[in-house]
This record gives sequence, C-alpha cells and structure tokens, in this order.
Amino acid sequence: MSTIFGAPIHSEFLQDTLTILRRAIEMGKLEKQLLDYLSRPQRIVAISIPIKINGAMMFLEGYRVQHNNALGPYKGGIRFHPEVTLEDDMALATLMTLKNSLAGIPYGGAKGAIQVDPKTLDKASLEELSRGYVRALINVLGPDIDIPAPDLNTNPQIMAWMVDEYSKMMGRNVPATFTAKPVQLWGNPVREYSTGYGAALWTRNAARKFLKGIEGATVAVQGFGNVGYWLSHFLTEMGAKVVAIGDIGGAIYNSNGFNPDEVKAVERKTGTVVNYTGPGTRKIGMDELLTLNVDILVPAAVEGVINYSNANAVKAKLIMEAANGPVTSDAEEMLYKRGIYVFPDIGVNAGGVVMSYLEWVENLQWFIWDEEETKKKLDFMITNAFNRVYDRWQKMNGATIRDAAYIDALDRIYQAMKWRGWI
Ligand code: NAD
Repeated sequence: MSTIFGAPIHSEFLQDTLTILRRAIEMGKLEKQLLDYLSRPQRIVAISIPIKINGAMMFLEGYRVQHNNALGPYKGGIRFHPEVTLEDDMALATLMTLKNSLAGIPYGGAKGAIQVDPKTLDKASLEELSRGYVRALINVLGPDIDIPAPDLNTNPQIMAWMVDEYSKMMGRNVPATFTAKPVQLWGNPVREYSTGYGAALWTRNAARKFLKGIEGATVAVQGFGNVGYWLSHFLTEMGAKVVAIGDIGGAIYNSNGFNPDEVKAVERKTGTVVNYTGPGTRKIGMDELLTLNVDILVPAAVEGVINYSNANAVKAKLIMEAANGPVTSDAEEMLYKRGIYVFPDIGVNAGGVVMSYLEWVENLQWFIWDEEETKKKLDFMITNAFNRVYDRWQKMNGATIRDAAYIDALDRIYQAMKWRGWI
C-alpha cells in the first residue's frame, strides 16, 4: 500500500510495518481481508493544544491513533517528542495492536503523541500540556474505550496529571483510564521493573527450550537503563551469569559474571558502567560485546545494532530483543541460516503492557495486589504467550520465531473479528 487516507505514505517506518503485516498474513495463510482492516487505523484524532509558554501563546499539535479494537479497548502510550509524525504514530499503533494480541490481553492497539520537546517546558507548562491533551480527547478516552500509558518522555507524573484531569471532567475518580501511574495514585510497584522482568522471563523460558536451562547460562547485555538493568538483575537472580554489560559509554566484561546491582550503583554515580572496576573486570568495545561467545545476547538499548555488517560475527546461541527493533531483517535472515534464534521484541519487551493490564484490572475493581502476587500473574501471562509462540513455531516449517509470533498475534485478532462478524 503506497497511500493512506488518500495521501502518499512518506514514513519508511509505516511502510516497513505494513510490509511485515502483509508478509505475516500471507505466510500464516490468514484471510486477506485482515490486511485491509489492519493496514489503516479505525480512528485518528488530530488535536491542537493552545498553551502559554513564557507569556507567548503556542499551539502544539498532537494525535491519538486508535488502530484496532477487535480484541478490546484501545491501548498504547503517549510520547512527547519534537520529531513525531502522524504516520510514525500510525505504525506504532499498529504494532501495539499486534503486541497486545500476542500478550493475550483484552486490548486493541493505539498510540498518541504531542509534537514538543519537553525539555523546553517548565513544570507548569508540562502539566498544562498534559491536561490539555486529555481535555481535547475526553470523548475518545476511558477505561473501556482507550487507556493510554507513558512512552518516550512521558512518565508516572504525567499519567497522574492526566488521570486527575479526566476524573475532574467526569466528576468522579476514574483510575483505570491511564496506566503506569504512581504507586500512591492507584499504580503498582512492579511497573518500575516490569519490562526488564518480562524480558528475563522470556529469556528463562527460551533457555529452558533451547539451552540446558537458565542456570549457568552466560549472557551479554547491551543497554543498562530501565530494561537492561532490571533484566540483568532478574537473570542473575534466576541463576544466569551476566558476563558483559554495555551502555553508551562503552562496555565491561567479567568471565565470573557481574553483580548487576553493584554495577548499577557505579553507573548511577558516574553516568556509565565502564567506571565499574570490580575484581576480574576488563573494558571491552561494544563490537566485542555484540560478538562474544556467550549463550545469550540481549540488545536492550536502541534499534538496528545487529545488522548486515556484524550479523555473521555474532556467536551467541539466542538473541532476545529487549529493545525495539535491535535486529534488522537482513541480519535476522543471516542469523537464521546459522541456527541462531532471535526472539522478537513484540513478545520479549511486552512486560510493561502486561503490567498495565494488571494495573487496569486492579483499578476496575478497586483492588490492590501485592508485589509477589503481581509478579506471579505477570509470569503466568508471559509464559503463556511464550508457549503459544513456541508451539506454533514448532509446527511451522522454515519459519522464524518472529514469524510465529506475528502469526499468533494476527490469528487472535482474526478470530475476534470473525466472531464479531467483521470478516
Ligand atoms: P533507558 O533510556 O532507560 O536506557 C537506555 C540504555 O541504552 C542506557 O544504558 C544507554 O546508555 C544505552 N544506550 C543508548 N544508546 C546506546 C548506543 N548507541 N549504544 C549502546 N548503548 C546505548 O531506556 P529503556 O527504557 O531501558 O529502553 C531501552 C529499549 O527498550 C528501547 O528500545 C525502548 O524503546 C525499549 N522498551 C522499553 C520499555 C520500557 O518499559 N522502558 C518498554 C518496551 C520497550
């Protein structure tokens, strides 16, 4: 498809997303009409938010793309970014439809954005903007309509302002309209580490099927922010040996394995993991980290780091995509030929959205689960998604695990549409 709503598509990201969609529908031999449904969002709301910044009136542009709600209310983050485009927002909303479906949660997909660099705003303007976004979209948000969460440059404080504005306009508290709220305002403590924990669970499950289990497995992790750190913390707790850690400042190696909490303490103080100098540690280059002879490689930083130029040098047996899009499609083909399995981002980093679902369920019932109870439920849902993908992959000849994941997600959406009579 080269046009959308009568205009040519400019975004490479949207084009790529539609190509992946088409390929998966063809490969899974799914109903062709599914592509017609999923190639365009069901609803797009474009808004302009007037706010005063340093005495001058500004009109900031924003969107909410509601891609598909066959499985339930729309769900997806809101990002504040100066370079965000409507087409990219459409691609992100499409991916949320697939991610939520694969996770087995009762949600469709959505994404929202405001074109702004939040660093240029003081706290009062940021609050006004967050509240303005909710006021402009009041009729299309709600616990059973569309439930936003944080994304790039948005956080629990912004969710708190938004849920407050929504509640004021409704004249009652409506906690289940936004997720990833502060713990003190109907949030859940597991949220902070849910994506890293979810990625660790996928890694543990993959190691049980493809290696001799997670105990003693060696792991290299690129990226030591929210996802990379918590993933390392939980993998170590599960018995794995995190032997290499890297961030924007460089990388470190220790054949005995790191204590990720100690490395994090140094990184917090000095800004990078390379200042960690515990016994047996040596500095390595990022290229070396990505091509180490380890059991598991986890890119948890940025997209495209395993690509055509380095894929043939990768020696890990399993690659877990904790970041979004870290393995390019040409690299995946090369890895596949060499028997290296890549576990895709739409499953591996879905812990955050599964946690959002659990928070929503708590809020709908005015219920509070403690940390252990929440983790147990998260493990159950994530392991369930992993097993569905694994079982499907085993039955498909010549498919990658990513193919199996996409087809599983699409099949669930297709079944819902069929029962509803849409297809
Ligand atoms: P973060 O900002 O907390 O941490 C990013 C880490 O990557 C830092 O350690 C940084 O130094 C490192 N990094 C950045 N650029 C790098 C580069 N070029 N080379 C090597 N290291 C680099 O981010 P995060 O929240 O941990 O997210 C990491 C990835 O996971 C992103 O792709 C994000 O989209 C994805 N993700 C995050 C969540 C979440 O809940 N945080 C959910 C889903 C997906």
